[in-house]
Amino acid sequence: IDFRVHSLHECMLKVIALMESEATRFGHQIHYKESMDAALVLMDQDKMIQLLLNIVKNACEAMQENGVIHMQLMCDAKQVTVIIADNGPGIPGDQLEKIFHPFFTTKESGTGLGLSICYKIVQDHQGTLEVESELGTGTRFIITFPLAGKQS
Ligand code: ADP
Ligand code: MG
Repeated sequence: IDFRVHSLHECMLKVIALMESEATRFGHQIHYKESMDAALVLMDQDKMIQLLLNIVKNACEAMQENGVIHMQLMCDAKQVTVIIADNGPGIPGDQLEKIFHPFFTTKESGTGLGLSICYKIVQDHQGTLEVESELGTGTRFIITFPLAGKQS
């Protein structure tokens, strides 16, 4: 693990670039709204990208064709918040608490490891990871990190 201060906005852009072709293949759109692009976070950048990538990938896989993924970056005096939301099928209430457990998957060829790795990465960064989901409406992951500063 290699912790340095990096721009979270840059990570978001990298993840969008990495996911673009897969999203396009499904007819999905990724919308990114940055209300705060100067936020700096103490991070292992590769791990951070792996975390965001896993969540965006799950969103791509969950949605029917022509879905929309909303990514948002917000910041206050102490913390940075990332929101990744989709308009997919949602997660049934009895599964919500299990999705972060290793090997929990509802996919035929899923490993069920993605979100357990995400959870670990967020913990290693002193962050929080929450999910909100409504059946038929979609799913929203909310991730926070301590703010390490602002790019001048
Ligand atoms: P995998 O992708 O291999 O199934 P993950 O740990 O990444 O493993 O995800 C675990 C499970 O959580 C998925 O199989 C799916 O049931 C559920 N899930 C995760 N993200 C979403 C999402 N955006 N919409 C609906 N279900 C989701
Ligand atoms: Mg996954």
